[in-house]
Amino acid sequence: MLDPVRAFVARLAPHPVCDGCIAERLNLTTPQRANQETRLLAGNEGFERRRDICSLCYGEKMVIRLRV
Ligand SMILES: [Zn+2]
Repeated sequence: MLDPVRAFVARLAPHPVCDGCIAERLNLTTPQRANQETRLLAGNEGFERRRDICSLCYGEKMVIRLRV
């Protein structure tokens, strides 16, 4: 499931997105599933996780984005 998450975050770049929105848009079973994926992704070059405003739900949460 890493690739769909990666592609989704890359498509939104440079805008950040939270785990909940990733889970909802990609039909992952739970936000925890998205959390596992984004934590893995954050170790990859260009991807960063931090507390910020999600570009989809506008909540201040842990988000991930791809720097461009
Ligand atoms: Zn969100």
